[in-house]
Amino acid sequence: MTRDEVLRAFEEIRVWQRGDQRAVHKPLLILYALGRLLNNKAPMVNWNEADPRLKELLEEFGPAGSSASRHNPFWHLQTDQLWRLDGPAEILTRPPGATPTLTELRQGNVSGGFPETLRYTLIRDPRLIGAIARQIVDSHFPDTIRSDVLAATGFPDDISETPLGSSSRIRRRDPAFRERVLIAYQYRCGVCGHDLRLGRQTIGLEAAHIRWFQANGPDVVENGIALCSMHHKVFDLGVFTVLPETYQIVFSQHLNGDSETTGRMLAHQGAGLILPQSREYFPQSDYLDWHRSQVFKKPART
Ligand SMILES: [Zn+2]
Repeated sequence: MTRDEVLRAFEEIRVWQRGDQRAVHKPLLILYALGRLLNNKAPMVNWNEADPRLKELLEEFGPAGSSASRHNPFWHLQTDQLWRLDGPAEILTRPPGATPTLTELRQGNVSGGFPETLRYTLIRDPRLIGAIARQIVDSHFPDTIRSDVLAATGFPDDISETPLGSSSRIRRRDPAFRERVLIAYQYRCGVCGHDLRLGRQTIGLEAAHIRWFQANGPDVVENGIALCSMHHKVFDLGVFTVLPETYQIVFSQHLNGDSETTGRMLAHQGAGLILPQSREYFPQSDYLDWHRSQVFKKPART
């Protein structure tokens, strides 16, 4: 396969979004497999080795409950011509829709990996591996957690910054979004009120998308909240969410850590979001609902 053919093959399965649902199974499996290739691991990975890693990745970066179907892409990626399986004929000969169960993959010792021609092209060109990984992570995860996703799948910090050839389908961000959100929230974090400045320059204050930009969230103030870097990051990781209508902040039961830091974070449990200066800027329920179902790590603390 040529470099261009490889790029096109990955571009063609870029449209993974299914309605409101965040579909991160295939992207995470591909990142995991690319990371293995980059780190010179065996080209085919046994399901029993991949299973615990994919479970962790989905628990950390996927919507709540998504790890239960972690075996699906291991099977379905075959139909995108980017994956092949080894294992008992009894499983491999099934029609594409007849997904084997977790137990069948385990007991059948099924292995998966990139097809040979694709693999050879990738191994010869580590920069290409980096560029594909970057494209995948940029189209599925917000900036706040992209380096965590890359690190968790085995990529170094200095992953290739080379942009890919055709990027006509990449949606452009509205550069005015940040400013509009910060004005609406009067330049302070909606959770903790952080408003540190150096002269007139804000420090560590960001405009967060409620429904991620990567999940077709629009660049409008009603889809934004001004947050300090820490609250932005944990919001994107699903550590807390904001309830529609009451704008109450609720934290995940999965949050844990040293008593002092956790205590500082949990001090905001049940408190109201520091609201924008005008009603027209208030977060819209549709976006908050999306965040709660697709990002927040259920269950909520009471
Ligand atoms: Zn804050």
